[in-house]
Amino acid sequence: MGDIKEVYLDYQSSKPVDPRVIDGMLPYFHERFGNASALHRVGDVATEALEESRRAIADYINADHDEIIFTSGATEANNMALIGYALKNKRKGNHIIISEVEHISIRNIAKYLEREGFDVSRVPVDKYGRVVLRKLERRIRDNTILISVQNANNEIGTIQPIAEVGKLAEEKGIAFHTDAVAAEGLLPIDVKRAGVHLMSLSSNDFYGPRGIGVLYMKKRYRVNPILIGGGQERGLRSGTEDIAGIVGMKLAVEIMKREMPGEVDRLQGYRDRLINTVLDEIPDSYLNGHPTERLASNAHFRFDGVEGEAMLLSFKDKGISVSTGSACTSKTLEPSHTLIATGLIHEEAHGSLQLTPGRFNEDNDIDRVLEVLPEVLTRIRGMSPIYNPKSR
Ligand code: PMP
Repeated sequence: MGDIKEVYLDYQSSKPVDPRVIDGMLPYFHERFGNASALHRVGDVATEALEESRRAIADYINADHDEIIFTSGATEANNMALIGYALKNKRKGNHIIISEVEHISIRNIAKYLEREGFDVSRVPVDKYGRVVLRKLERRIRDNTILISVQNANNEIGTIQPIAEVGKLAEEKGIAFHTDAVAAEGLLPIDVKRAGVHLMSLSSNDFYGPRGIGVLYMKKRYRVNPILIGGGQERGLRSGTEDIAGIVGMKLAVEIMKREMPGEVDRLQGYRDRLINTVLDEIPDSYLNGHPTERLASNAHFRFDGVEGEAMLLSFKDKGISVSTGSACTSKTLEPSHTLIATGLIHEEAHGSLQLTPGRFNEDNDIDRVLEVLPEVLTRIRGMSPIYNPKSR
């Protein structure tokens, strides 16, 4: 690595914890170590911190404090939302609808529910990865109990029409869950405006600690607990609360609330520079995802005649961390289900590169990537038996 500065452009897969968050968490590991279930003063300090965090997070998403359940992250919140709601409501019906581009946690929970006797429909998306409302509506049946559509896609950054999905769900009397992880800190999240009944959040996507998340559960949309034990979180999520982590999530949300407008503008500037330069200067390059309805931090490309893995490794050699898609599915050699759902063939999906800048990037990180990318592509394409330049 020598003296070359490492450049990190994979904020979608993991974010550093903001140092201001770490500072605020530290007292909760030692001086304020109490258990929120204990009735003495040390316990009271923990309870106060817990409830203050609950109020701050509720406030951020325009919910009431008693609609917030702390979990170990979005995976657990997604499990509670889908499995917990399905079990609680199985007498009303056994049909669930998800989109074809959900995060792997939702996809695998849906498969689990199918094995347990539930019926799952998967709604197709258009070529930009947006859920097609007409097709969603056609899949609704008398026994549909739950619809789950992400707020935005974690790979290609496409923003979903969740307010329209919420309206449809409300009209049909069906519960609506959204996995809002990819949109955190990038889009305003208002559960009332979006008509959301259940929502999953993860602290790290706000630059908070890992291992903490939230399930928002609107009153009257109750779920069965999936972790049974001492009855914390009103019996819905047992286990001693991680007060330090929960305080960390609150601090992260507060910073985000104050800084989001400036941060989003800055990220959008990086994104647009990446997209415009690549599409203008690199032959046979294409943008994946929606041209305008996309997250401010997401630039996702595909290049003819190039393997995504080869690009990633070439960037790695130069000290630049990028991604070919979702880190959560990088262990499978399958092409991204999201790209396939948008209509790409396997070879096209395999030639993709995801660049997601974040809070700690600087202008010269973007300069460096744009300097290295043409070299990397020329070299890989020069060795490729399948690259057949179209635009020369
Ligand atoms: N949903 C989405 C859209 C994600 O990107 C992730 C991963 N960050 C998860 C759910 C799972 O979150 P966690 O790792 O906090 O359980």
